[in-house]
Amino acid sequence: MIIISYFYIGIDDTDSPEGMCTTFLACHIIRQLEKKGISIIGYPRLIRLNPFARFKTRGNGGVSFKINNDDKVPLAKEIVLNEVSKLSMFDCENTNPGVVFYDGEITKEMEEYAYRAIYSFITIDEAEKFGKSAGCEIHKFKKGRGIIGSIAAISLPLEDYTYELLTYRNPENYGSKRKINYDSVVEMDEKTYPDTFENIDYSENYIAIEPKTPCPVLYGVRSNNAPILKKARDIIKVDENIDGYCIFLTNQHTDMHIQKADYISQMEQFGCYEIVSTVKDTPHVINGGHMFFTVYDDSGEIECGAYEPTKNFRKTVSYLRPGDVIKLYGGIGEQNTFNIEKFQMIAMNDVEYKNPVCKCGKRMTSAGKNKGFKCKKCGNKFKSSDKIPVKVQRFLENGKFYETPVSARRHLSKPVCRL
Ligand code: ATP
Repeated sequence: MIIISYFYIGIDDTDSPEGMCTTFLACHIIRQLEKKGISIIGYPRLIRLNPFARFKTRGNGGVSFKINNDDKVPLAKEIVLNEVSKLSMFDCENTNPGVVFYDGEITKEMEEYAYRAIYSFITIDEAEKFGKSAGCEIHKFKKGRGIIGSIAAISLPLEDYTYELLTYRNPENYGSKRKINYDSVVEMDEKTYPDTFENIDYSENYIAIEPKTPCPVLYGVRSNNAPILKKARDIIKVDENIDGYCIFLTNQHTDMHIQKADYISQMEQFGCYEIVSTVKDTPHVINGGHMFFTVYDDSGEIECGAYEPTKNFRKTVSYLRPGDVIKLYGGIGEQNTFNIEKFQMIAMNDVEYKNPVCKCGKRMTSAGKNKGFKCKKCGNKFKSSDKIPVKVQRFLENGKFYETPVSARRHLSKPVCRL
């Protein structure tokens, strides 16, 4: 039996809000490696980690890729370290690159570490200690915080996965308005959805493939399979030169950040969960346009929020009624509020209890405690004090999922079209 051994390379924390992007740097490095006859095996991976990580620039993503473990490894290492030291945004205080090399099998412990990097917080020291014990070669630049994500990007197993095609701009265009033909994006969406998704937010008239930051990315298209991305790229028209592109295998839109909670009291701040609970009060809007309501179960209750950036989703949330049983997906943020990403209606409370209606057509009023009801118009009496169940018209459906718009969606959130 031939045992194939790979050499893994993980890179993270090279960019800043002013520029660069770790995917671009990885893509650039892969091109340099190819020039020296070193090919990567499979797709490079873009791994999104804990959405609540404090020092993230945008979407908390680390990158990894693998090559054959042969005599070209020393040259590959030299190229990677050189390019990371040359191109990282070192001027930014919060840019602390980390590069990790690893050869061998990905162990159970490494996989567990990667899940921890999605579900909880890891310190630089912890990552370094763990990485060394696992046999990783660790390279820290400045504080080297990037090693946390680099080890995870190498180690995370991907049972569910998606792809993202990233195209990059010519450096002379960085920071300027991107010249993307929006009609062609609509055409691409029409011809490739739902194999591709998150392209356009029609409710907000928002082209989601275009980043809003000055980074090197021109556009990114997300998909369930890789071949469809070629078709998407052929349809999208742009009026500027493209400086290469790369397809990444990724855990984006897999709900990998979501853990199943059986009870509200199990959930912790900065964790992301799926939980079934009952709506306690009518959703209400507070300052800033955020919409809140509370859910409960036998173990306790928690306030849920659909924040202003979720736009029309707030309207959907406003249709919830006390007594509705819903499955919520989301995370508990700074304010200890459950920030909803999507919900499923499990059992709708579509009954309201009202005073009976008199023969004359007027709704009766209470005749006093335990004295039944009376009609103010014609004086008719009704002995029973039991209110009458009335079916309420609802704008939600049992079993159906409702999600935040594309413009407000987390990288890791699984869209309903992928469920
Ligand atoms: P971009 O998506 O544009 O590449 P980013 O949002 O990924 O940027 P980074 O520059 O990678 O941001 O910074 C995120 C930092 O957080 C990295 O140093 C990474 O190692 C670290 N990090 C990732 N996951 C965790 C975690 N679970 N606990 C603590 N730190 C983490």
